[in-house]
Amino acid sequence: MTGHISRKIALIKQQIPDNVELIAITKQVSIEAMREAYAAGISNFGENRLQEALSKQEQLKDLTNVDWHFIGHIQKNKVKKIIENFTWIHSVDSLSLAEKINSLAAKLDLMPKVFLQVKVMPDPNKYGWEVSNLLQDLEQLNQFEQLKVQGLMTILPWGLSEVEMLKAFATVAKLSTAIRQKNYAHLPMTELSMGMSGDYKLAIQAGATKIRLGRIIFGDGQFD
Ligand SMILES: *Cc1c(COP(=O)(O)O)cnc(C)c1O
Repeated sequence: MTGHISRKIALIKQQIPDNVELIAITKQVSIEAMREAYAAGISNFGENRLQEALSKQEQLKDLTNVDWHFIGHIQKNKVKKIIENFTWIHSVDSLSLAEKINSLAAKLDLMPKVFLQVKVMPDPNKYGWEVSNLLQDLEQLNQFEQLKVQGLMTILPWGLSEVEMLKAFATVAKLSTAIRQKNYAHLPMTELSMGMSGDYKLAIQAGATKIRLGRIIFGDGQFD
């Protein structure tokens, strides 16, 4: 099987514009497979479980210039370890979590780069702000000087048609632009984290700047 991962990465890279960053999502992926991805040019890894991620970071500490992204729901007692060990946090999904990250980051003199997770369609199984709630919270989020809010992140619900997916991604992109145009000092909103294995082409069409791909790189399935 060796060589498959690098071949898949090469094929995906051909399809994505230069301004779009590919984050390899490596939850439950082996260290060997991660080393193969790194050799194929991947320098961004995303994980959703803290313990698993810390163990992998330890095993891969010889790799240089790697950025680690946290993409999973965050319990408040894990915030300290997460901001100490990840450059990017994609899954800031509530005002109280943002507040906690901000206060600990101030104590530790860190400036984590974060995304605000939104859901543009009702989805009880997912975390994140609904649009109207996010708009209400912007003033307070803008007070968190220790957070570098890079933009919005979204995960679409299962079972949408391509038209619905594109529409949902476009809604997130429009929301991001609308927030950016308010010129909040601490909400620059220049990035969009959206697109997974099943929908990344549509996400890029709608303006994604960071795509998060797992199965299509590391799974057994055929590459289309
Ligand atoms: C697992 C996961 C991904 C990757 O999904 P694939 O379908 O394997 O590409 C992306 N983002 C988040 C938040 C995830 O949990």
